[in-house]
Amino acid sequence: PYNMRLDRFISKSTELTQQQVSEYIRQAKVWVNGVTITDETTQVHENNVVQLQGQTLVTRPFRYLLFNKPQQTLCSNVDGVHPSLFSLIDIERQSELHIAGRLDADTTGLVLITDDGRWTFNITSPAKLCHKTYRVNLAKPIKEDVAERFANGILLQGEKGLTLPAKLTIISAQQVLLTLTEGKFHQVKRMFAAVGNKVVALHRQSIGAVSLDVPEGQWRYLTAEEISSFY
Ligand code: URA
Repeated sequence: PYNMRLDRFISKSTELTQQQVSEYIRQAKVWVNGVTITDETTQVHENNVVQLQGQTLVTRPFRYLLFNKPQQTLCSNVDGVHPSLFSLIDIERQSELHIAGRLDADTTGLVLITDDGRWTFNITSPAKLCHKTYRVNLAKPIKEDVAERFANGILLQGEKGLTLPAKLTIISAQQVLLTLTEGKFHQVKRMFAAVGNKVVALHRQSIGAVSLDVPEGQWRYLTAEEISSFY
């Protein structure tokens, strides 16, 4: 299922540039369900028949991949110092893809990448309670009360509400796993700062049922089962 702007649908289903798409729409060469549509922002979905100069268009399927992010790569746009992680992903029509839940430049591990916005929403919206598990190395030994404090929710600096219940699993004095269902800005680092500790290394190892299983800097397509686990 999908729901997207008419111009996006045409870009996705043809080799036309954005500008060519706009021109075709403005010149009334695009029909939806047999009617000319000249507003490129019109939303279309899978039951609509979209035609360009009489030819019915079929979208390419959405793409879903996982990537093992190395340190010092960026999930956001380039900052002049660090390369975007997309520079390590050799795939066509890369500009159509986005990251479903970004990591900080110094965080490593699992990143999901797609062109399906609705799927991304299911992963990133706190209301969907999708689990993300991080392996955390700490500057100081973990205190005894931290698991309970994280389970109850804590107040982060600058936030109004408490963090959602999070599960802490202790591996050793200075290494733990933390499972969150939300992703506030720098959340893991801020949670440990709030309990008087400091994150020295952060690695995301799973999101929902998807676990990282490719070497650093490598990617693979998700399986049908992995994709549908977020729908
Ligand atoms: N929490 C952080 O602080 N950083 C990340 O990259 C992810 C979660």
